[in-house]
Amino acid sequence: IEVPDNPIIPIIHGDGIGKDVGPAAQKVLEAAAEATGREISWMRVYAGESAREKYGEDVNLPDETVEAIEEHRVAIKGPLTTPVGAGFRSLNVALRQTLDLYANVRPTYYLDGVPSPMSAPEEMDMVTFRENTEDVYAGIEWEAGTDEVEQVRDFVEQEMGFDETIHEGPVGIGIKPITEKGSKRLVREAIDYALEHDRDKVTLVHKGNIMKFTEGQFSEWGMEVADEEYPDDEVFAAPDSLWEEQDDIDIPEGAVMVEERLADAMLQWMQLRTDEFDVLAMPNLNGDYLSDAAGAQIGGLGIAPGGNFGKGRMLAEPVHGSAPKRAGQDMANPTAMILSGRLMFDYLGWDDAADLIRDAVEETISSGKVTYDLERQLEDAEKLATSEYTDEVVSNIEKLS
Ligand code: NAD
Repeated sequence: IEVPDNPIIPIIHGDGIGKDVGPAAQKVLEAAAEATGREISWMRVYAGESAREKYGEDVNLPDETVEAIEEHRVAIKGPLTTPVGAGFRSLNVALRQTLDLYANVRPTYYLDGVPSPMSAPEEMDMVTFRENTEDVYAGIEWEAGTDEVEQVRDFVEQEMGFDETIHEGPVGIGIKPITEKGSKRLVREAIDYALEHDRDKVTLVHKGNIMKFTEGQFSEWGMEVADEEYPDDEVFAAPDSLWEEQDDIDIPEGAVMVEERLADAMLQWMQLRTDEFDVLAMPNLNGDYLSDAAGAQIGGLGIAPGGNFGKGRMLAEPVHGSAPKRAGQDMANPTAMILSGRLMFDYLGWDDAADLIRDAVEETISSGKVTYDLERQLEDAEKLATSEYTDEVVSNIEKLS
């Protein structure tokens, strides 16, 4: 997208460890922007606890925050606490829905020096596109015993092949909506990303063999996008890739191949044949599980970056939550939020600044200077506070630029 060299970027530091990692990321992003001849005008906006403190007990997500992100189009946020059970609904979900940020994007790549359970973690370099608005996460479900459940109960029992020894008693019911529009715009986003970033392949991950009219349709609609909306020599749809050997598929030279994989098998392939995968696109639930599992292979929550995309807007946010136990102790790992900022820079087209951030973080970690979460998994590492680690990354930015 077109942005000035000194854009206004709204930032929400976030709750819990957001108070530690938010300012840390801001410092690193500022240093990388400055080192590449740019300047960021930050606009502090509020949500969650900081919004309640500023605007009053009932205000969790002020209109000003939503309007700022709408207007400036690119923003970054730290984690926000969602109470379990009673209380307000997730502010993260509210932000994604209000701004229609329909693609949750998580790059998963290995940084030298990070502890990993894999034998060849350096082969991991994937970007997952998870549909953000539909599927069983749309929250359309009914508690056992409610009128809604009783109305459809006979039908459900009949469809399940009712056996009273197994199925009698309370039943909860949920609905899994998957739309053509929602599926197609997500897959389009993934394909465009692959084209822009010279990636070879987009893999549609689904369970369409079992859920034919939802996940199966997701895959069919995705293949339609690949087949009908791009020239064959740019994007090649391989709808038979589930059953055919890759080598038998005739892909035009240089084209991005759009293939498909079943979700359960994919979790295995991701670990056994890591280097075969590039960009993955999938419905909401698959994306949630798969991206967390991928993140665990390359250092876990303290490292894993993410962002939400849609309609010419992007909201960067780390995968992790507010980790209340570690809040305000200058302990938390700011890398996930820093690398989410890197993803934001990438979206702004600031490739040199984005590369500089990655190099500086990698230099810091590979020299054995890490926060507590990585230190306890590494031999001979030095445990740094959030602020010390941040200063180290900033100093590496200055050295490397
Ligand atoms: P969490 O990610 O906050 O923490 C899980 C554990 O991971 C922590 O106990 C901590 O040991 C570790 N951890 C996480 N981030 C870390 C970091 N940067 N550095 C070092 N260690 C880190 O998950 P949770 O405990 O399930 O959730 C806590 C709160 O966060 C909940 O209210 C939840 O709703 C919220 N949450 C928000 C978001 C978001 O804002 N996008 C995402 C997930 C959870």
